[in-house]
Amino acid sequence: MREGVQFSIDGTLGDLGEAERASLMERAYAPEPAVVEAVSVIIARVALDGDATLLALAERFDGARLEALEVPREAWRAAREREPAELVGALETARDRIAAFHRRQLPTADEIELGAGIRLGRRPEPLATVGAYVPGGRAAYPSSVLMCVVPAKLAGVDQVVVCSPPSETGMPPAVVLAACDVAGADRLFAIGGAGAIAALAYGTKSVPPADKVVGPGNVYVSEAKRQLAGRIASDCLAGPSELLIVADGTASVDVIARELVAQAEHDPDAVVVALVPDEATAGDVRAEVRRLTAAQPQREIISQAIARGGALLVADTNESLAFANAFAPEHLMLLVDDPRAAMVRVHGAGAIFLGPSSSVVFGDYTSGTNHVLPTVGQGRSQSGLSVADFIRWSTYQEIDAEGAARLADVTAEIASAEGLEGHAAAARAWSHTEDSLSSTAAGRSLPISPRPDYAELTTYDPGRSPTEVDLTDNTNLFGQAPSAVRVLAELDAADVRAYPSLYGGELKEAAASYFGVPASCVATGCGSDDLIDSTIRAFCEPGDVVAFPVPTFSMIGPFARMNGGRAVGVDMSPGFELDIDALARNQASVTYLCRPNNPTGNAFLRTEVEALVEKAHGLIILDEAYGDFCDDPLAGWAPETDRVVVLRTMSKAFGLAGLRVGLAIGAPKLIGEIEKSRGPYKVGVVAEAATAAALRHDHEWVAATVAEAVDMRRRLAAALARRGLRVYPSAANFLLVEAPGGDAEKFSRGLAAAGVGVRPFAGLPGAGDCVRVTVGPQPLMDRFLGRTDELLDR
Ligand code: PMP
Repeated sequence: MREGVQFSIDGTLGDLGEAERASLMERAYAPEPAVVEAVSVIIARVALDGDATLLALAERFDGARLEALEVPREAWRAAREREPAELVGALETARDRIAAFHRRQLPTADEIELGAGIRLGRRPEPLATVGAYVPGGRAAYPSSVLMCVVPAKLAGVDQVVVCSPPSETGMPPAVVLAACDVAGADRLFAIGGAGAIAALAYGTKSVPPADKVVGPGNVYVSEAKRQLAGRIASDCLAGPSELLIVADGTASVDVIARELVAQAEHDPDAVVVALVPDEATAGDVRAEVRRLTAAQPQREIISQAIARGGALLVADTNESLAFANAFAPEHLMLLVDDPRAAMVRVHGAGAIFLGPSSSVVFGDYTSGTNHVLPTVGQGRSQSGLSVADFIRWSTYQEIDAEGAARLADVTAEIASAEGLEGHAAAARAWSHTEDSLSSTAAGRSLPISPRPDYAELTTYDPGRSPTEVDLTDNTNLFGQAPSAVRVLAELDAADVRAYPSLYGGELKEAAASYFGVPASCVATGCGSDDLIDSTIRAFCEPGDVVAFPVPTFSMIGPFARMNGGRAVGVDMSPGFELDIDALARNQASVTYLCRPNNPTGNAFLRTEVEALVEKAHGLIILDEAYGDFCDDPLAGWAPETDRVVVLRTMSKAFGLAGLRVGLAIGAPKLIGEIEKSRGPYKVGVVAEAATAAALRHDHEWVAATVAEAVDMRRRLAAALARRGLRVYPSAANFLLVEAPGGDAEKFSRGLAAAGVGVRPFAGLPGAGDCVRVTVGPQPLMDRFLGRTDELLDR
């Protein structure tokens, strides 16, 4: 190593000479003629005799004698098992974070009616096959495997083919193999350099042709992408790494030096520059860079890169940002007093790092953003790798005769002006249909159309028809809270002239004292349905995942979709146990858990709930609609966490479903967000007064009817078991019962014919056809059992 690492570019930014400034700014892609020539020879040879050339190139450039180009999946698996568990765990964490960030980039189809009868739309479609190039040589880059493969698979690419140069062992390094397994790649080939890009462009006997190739690489890889541009699409041409630091008087010398040295380590040609406010800082940065570099194993590379870079003086942050915009660096670090204010003035950086602890290394590996970024000034017009790189769009249009008539004349006008009379005639053919004029005259031209993502939704209908003995809806068949009934009888009609309280008022106070929490921990809603809806809306942005176990409350999926979320159900085991890891893996913004669960009846263990809270990513909705019937409801615990919102309803144990009141209990900051999304005046005065009275005064009544229900639940379960029917353990006021003959529809129809309503569930995962039966007083249960006996006898 040269004595003393030196920046070549020092002094004041404004005073730089032409040559120095040009050496910084002139980074446009310009390969040596020898590289252009070598790459064109490689491409021609791969196009001619594919695999044979690739094998010869591996021997020549990588010193590897290969038996086969493809690395079998068993080898990736074995590598994943053999690599240190901490390393594999770290790769998995990085993968999950990258997936969570990129999942938000998933596009949605769009359709509008632009004038009556003219429907226009746009549909995203994933590319079929994509190549991911992962460089080798100087080091192994498992991180690049994750950065390329994870967004491609999220986008829905069918086949992601990784190419990476072999080491002398004949395969890419073990950690790259392990990363392919962790990332979910489809195939892996031990092919490096320009040969890999050519193989993906033309396809060979072993390598499938790809629609696009992405990923970093050296100048040969970039040159191959450029020469093959007409045959295979590619991402930005990758140049050496770049870091520009904009520092003001608040920046720490240690941070500046550490970040410059870290990014210099990538490549001897890396460009690392800091813009600093005064000479003292510049001197200190130089000294610290020298000190840090001396201690680094990669000091040869670092010092070469540092020698190309500099610590330059600027007058102020305005000058720095103007330079940053002209320079358009791959990485821009803002070490200034107000980094967010500075960021909005930046145009063209690949990735921006705000403040000292937002180290560039986190973006390189684990924060979740992509590290494949535009270099050499391409950031002025291009973006880093994202899900969008793996998607193409088709537009479509559906125009009825009326719509065609509206467009005919204007279309013909333009076509004639272009001298294309055939076009004009094709348009005019639609111009005067009989009914087109009348409806145009009616002026129906507003572009009103339903949301395209609502196309799959239907209006909810549980399919209940009135029955004499209704055991379908799990309401309290033992009665209704007496204080509510009293208030309803006493209410004067004049009381409804005024609005109710904005967000709950007295009802909130009453609920707070019922659950033993402060009123700031309670939100009210029009049924707990309303609170499920508002909570998802508050914490889940369009495109985010809402995860839940299956089977569970059927409205959770629709509520997720209504709010633009993606509903992801995770099957429970046959004993209705939670798959906590699978739920957590979804990186959901909201995970929904119903306890006791509807329709299965079981209450998950408190330790399971705690494990889920520990592992899951976002907010947990714990729906305790049936919490009064289980031994250890968790409403009072929710505010102690800042991750859990418990939902309760006045519809079940209180017997007040007709009043439509639900309650949310959680930490005040969560409740505040839910109320924002819920909006004001959701609970009417009558419902508010009656349910508040019930919460204040009907504790004992609830406890007594719950005890009755629990006792009847035990007796009904025993009676059904005696009849040879499987009954699942329940901690709620209903039982899930296996349908006789495995036909839930038939059984429930048979019951309905005798005036008994139960809710059928066909093909429940892990349980098959079942019915759900609400527990009620003896005479109702007798009716149900009597009719069941008749049906069993047949
Ligand atoms: N959650 C669960 C689990 C339910 O079963 C129900 C109603 N059946 C609700 C929420 C909605 O209850 P409400 O809107 O009546 O409060």
